[in-house]
Amino acid sequence: MADVGLRKVGDAGLNRACLPRSLGLAAAFAVLLGACAPEESQEAETEAAPEPSTFEWKLVTTWPKNLPGLGTAPERLAEMVDVMSAGRLKIKVYAANELVPAFEVFDAVSEGSAEMGHGAAYYWRGKAPIAAIFATVPFGMTAQEMNAWLYHGGGLELWRELYGRFGVVPMAAGNSGVQMAGWFNKEINTPADLQGLKMRIPGLGGEVFQRAGGVAVSLPGSEIFTSLQTGVIDATEWVGPYNDLAFGFQEIARYYYYPGWHEPGPTIEAIVNAEALNALPDDLKTILETACRAINQDMLDEFTARNAGSLRTLVEEHGVEVRRLPDEVLDEFRRLSAEVLAESAGEDDELSQRILDSYTNFLNDMREYHAVTEQAYLNAR
Ligand code: CA
Repeated sequence: MADVGLRKVGDAGLNRACLPRSLGLAAAFAVLLGACAPEESQEAETEAAPEPSTFEWKLVTTWPKNLPGLGTAPERLAEMVDVMSAGRLKIKVYAANELVPAFEVFDAVSEGSAEMGHGAAYYWRGKAPIAAIFATVPFGMTAQEMNAWLYHGGGLELWRELYGRFGVVPMAAGNSGVQMAGWFNKEINTPADLQGLKMRIPGLGGEVFQRAGGVAVSLPGSEIFTSLQTGVIDATEWVGPYNDLAFGFQEIARYYYYPGWHEPGPTIEAIVNAEALNALPDDLKTILETACRAINQDMLDEFTARNAGSLRTLVEEHGVEVRRLPDEVLDEFRRLSAEVLAESAGEDDELSQRILDSYTNFLNDMREYHAVTEQAYLNAR
């Protein structure tokens, strides 16, 4: 059956969409069976049937090459879109610095030098301070709550309105779940221990850390290890055990603090150049949105599954000391977080205020509801 299909396609020799460059055998067969219609008559193929339009996109990321979870998600996204579109939408993924540096991904997509990007909204606070909310808010929503807000609470529409100013369409495309507070070489016992401490911590959490007396530094993933090793920074947060183990922070830091008050469930985003997206036929648009939604959940599932074993490895094989941040420090961070969030809309931007109101109202709903469901259950388990 498959042989017949292959021969017919080969004989027709027309349909390049049937010959994807980088598919595995099974996926290639799925494409052949689905799109190349081996039962179609020879005449129909040899007549001047219009070749389906194909699109070749570049996707630039803020992540180091092959970083588990964050870096492999866009690769999986591209494979999924390739198979689902029968090779009509091909996305080539570039790690940070292969085409553009991590923090230039948004501009590259906005200008159209790349059709897609993969990163996190808090890297673009320079474009719009409120953007950080679409990644994560200190003491804010969890992954489950963020997804509820984005897909069923009006969040995605607001996000698209904001990025629309830059000709960019965002889609949620990953989440790490609750992160860890980070890696330190000194004990944190009181807020006084934060004074002058230089820490890599992005987004609104960085602003809170700054107000607590620390020095917040923004660095892309690829620069963190060397910066901590050489003393450019004193401490860092990154993601959680799965990613942090891969980065090797256990070799250069002693204490691993929790919980990740600053990133309780950050949304990782796919961003698409609006003109490039509009040039796609409706089915490819839907395929892209569906694949992003699948990757959004898949990344959370991957982190959830892998973090537990990685945390055990850090403790049992590397002697890392896992510590909870003292209540006094968390209380201070919580107090400052409310301040920072309230000010994040700026002064006279109506859209930013609507985004802040929507987020805050939804968070309040979640707080009430989850007090008697998720939170009550976890406390009782
Ligand atoms: Ca982080």
